[in-house]
Amino acid sequence: MIQQANLSVEPQWQKELKQSFSRLDDLLSFLQISTENIDQHSEARRLFSMRVPKPFAKLMMPGDIDDPLLKQVMPSVQEFETKAGFITDPLDEHNSAQPGLLHKYKSRVLIMFKTGCAVNCRYCFRRHFPYADNSVNKSQLKQHLQYLEDHSEINEVILSGGDPLMAKDDATSWFVSQLELIPNIKRLRIHTRLPVVIPSRITQALCDILKNSRLKTIMVLHINHENEISPELANGLLKLKQANCTLLNQAVLLKNINDNVATQVNLSERLFEVGILPYYLHLFDKVDGASHFNVDEADAKRVYGQMLVELPGFLMPKLVREIGGEASKTPISL
Ligand SMILES: *Cc1c(COP(=O)(O)O)cnc(C)c1O
Ligand code: SF4
Repeated sequence: MIQQANLSVEPQWQKELKQSFSRLDDLLSFLQISTENIDQHSEARRLFSMRVPKPFAKLMMPGDIDDPLLKQVMPSVQEFETKAGFITDPLDEHNSAQPGLLHKYKSRVLIMFKTGCAVNCRYCFRRHFPYADNSVNKSQLKQHLQYLEDHSEINEVILSGGDPLMAKDDATSWFVSQLELIPNIKRLRIHTRLPVVIPSRITQALCDILKNSRLKTIMVLHINHENEISPELANGLLKLKQANCTLLNQAVLLKNINDNVATQVNLSERLFEVGILPYYLHLFDKVDGASHFNVDEADAKRVYGQMLVELPGFLMPKLVREIGGEASKTPISL
């Protein structure tokens, strides 16, 4: 038999994506953690499925059920608790003008480029998002391109999701080339957590797309804790830097995970070491089933005030809350 030409080799990151943990008992035995109530916790997968790529699991401390990375992704019986004020659509996004496109802020538009994520973070405000009604196809993206042409006040396109890097590089390449044809578009921003959980996602093909574009490119990573920054990720970030991509980070303030001064200071310091500037620190979006992650605003302000003492100004993320209907993210003043 003649060997098929090797044209469509599956990239490493796609293989790693398929090898993700989707069962709690598998993840916990990988981490050598034995605990009671596994079955009860595991039930929370009915509310929001579990997804944890192996490279991310490898960054967790074996034997430690309180590991700050594990806590972000481990289904918990607490997700069944309902609490007043915690709702399914805290950002009021389920009905957008054009499905898959959000034009909430004047100069920039957020495009849902791909619906799924490589990791399912339990605190995610999209945990109730009706993704089935929002899958992305090419004709929809073409409509988005038309929208961008029709709205000359838009100068920046944000690819979001889900996670936009779930798309294959070919698809990204096509879309970027279409964006480049629209004169009012100056910047392309990618909001992603994928390289954090699967560092091999930073492929040479992706770097080439960014490097060769006439658009200024920005990648906003989503890193909540310094332990999420592996040598493999640092290596990939270096390649993005060489492709002239500006690297920023947004984090969410999460109860018992990163809601203390030392953790935030270490995060900012470590981000800078790998070439990323802190951008936003988000107060928690009050999504149903995740109230156990919520940090009181007063506590957040106290932590933030102390960070100001410890960090240079350029390593201070902006403390913000997202409020539906506002013209921008809302800064929290101390
Ligand atoms: C957060 C967000 C943006 C980007 O806001 P910046 O302040 O520019 O980072 C754009 N559109 C939507 C819908 C958003 O939620
Ligand atoms: S990667 Fe982002 S969008 Fe996806 S589950 Fe995590 S927080 Fe939500």
